Amino acid sequence: MTDFTVEAHHNPTSAERIAQILQDPGFGTHFTDHTAVIDWTAEAGWHNHRVEAYGPISMDPAAAVLHYAQEVFEGMKAYRHDDGSIYTFRPHANAARMNRSAQRMALPQLDEQVFIQSLEQLVAADKQWVPDGEGEALYLRPFMFATEAFLGVRPAKEISYRVIASPAGNYFGGELKPVRIWVSREFNRSAPGGTGAAKTGGNYAGSLLPQQQAAEQGCDQVLFLDPLHDNAIEELGGMNVFLVTNDGRLLTPALTGTILEGITRSSVIQLAQDRGLTVEERRITLQEWERGVDEGTITEVFACGTAAVITPIGELVDGEKTIASTGTGEVTQAIRDELLGIQTGTVEDRHGWLHRLA
Ligand SMILES: *Cc1c(COP(=O)(O)O)cnc(C)c1O
Repeated sequence: MTDFTVEAHHNPTSAERIAQILQDPGFGTHFTDHTAVIDWTAEAGWHNHRVEAYGPISMDPAAAVLHYAQEVFEGMKAYRHDDGSIYTFRPHANAARMNRSAQRMALPQLDEQVFIQSLEQLVAADKQWVPDGEGEALYLRPFMFATEAFLGVRPAKEISYRVIASPAGNYFGGELKPVRIWVSREFNRSAPGGTGAAKTGGNYAGSLLPQQQAAEQGCDQVLFLDPLHDNAIEELGGMNVFLVTNDGRLLTPALTGTILEGITRSSVIQLAQDRGLTVEERRITLQEWERGVDEGTITEVFACGTAAVITPIGELVDGEKTIASTGTGEVTQAIRDELLGIQTGTVEDRHGWLHRLA
């Protein structure tokens, strides 16, 4: 065990104010009183593990992250169970993924146990911020970024790792509302050999303009296509995609290096197999999607990720053409209920996915 020092906030948020925030937490706008921090230098490695008051970061204007975007992040949730205990979901998978992202972005590796300890330490300090409403959680955001003041181009020798936390409401008020998706024909999210498999801010920066175009077309999200052929589906800006067939198969694009390997994606695959569905990870063209919906062989389509868990995809808008809505189907609803049930402690955790934080 690595020792974290804990310096409690001098003027923490009052219980009344926290209760008020937890009434309607929204997503990503309120932050807890503390942050977990670990520093890294090329000479000393990881050091100064601590929990301190949440607040602005003082950084040199030449810090490498501000110029060359050398950073990675993670996203996970802590759920309060009925007995008051607090659990997170598959944190080893997040730790391993952060290290894969870090490797790609020439950032240092962080020991998985230390990653998990940083979550435990932060949640221990900010327990009262974990909501207990249905589907509500404390969203945890670990991230790592280059702080070294240097404008030359090479991996930075000074890095900061932090975890912040933000109470999150139930995305769609418990009801699954199908979203409208815009197919981006103009932009790709990533390319072979690029950074698409790393959870790094630059991928998101590049998705904002296509996302804006989608919004202008009355759509909620963007679907990105295969960068080489523009006809196979990849993923949304921050969610993986699944199609359900009428003969018991679940289809999802294979991980070819341009798609982010979602932990929700991997959990959905497992739960689908448990239900006797055949999972096919392969290339899926837009034509297959369109024809399948027309002919009734594709009965449900959904997207998944930590923030919204599972969201049914309604219409798919491809320029002038709209692929009809499949609505919320039984398989989508069943897998979503089971996954959220495991996370919130109402369904047996038969795969050992839960990790107690507090
Ligand atoms: C984080 C992320 C996902 C979903 O991953 P989860 O581990 O399920 O939250 C999917 N796509 C992209 C691009 C992401 O950044």
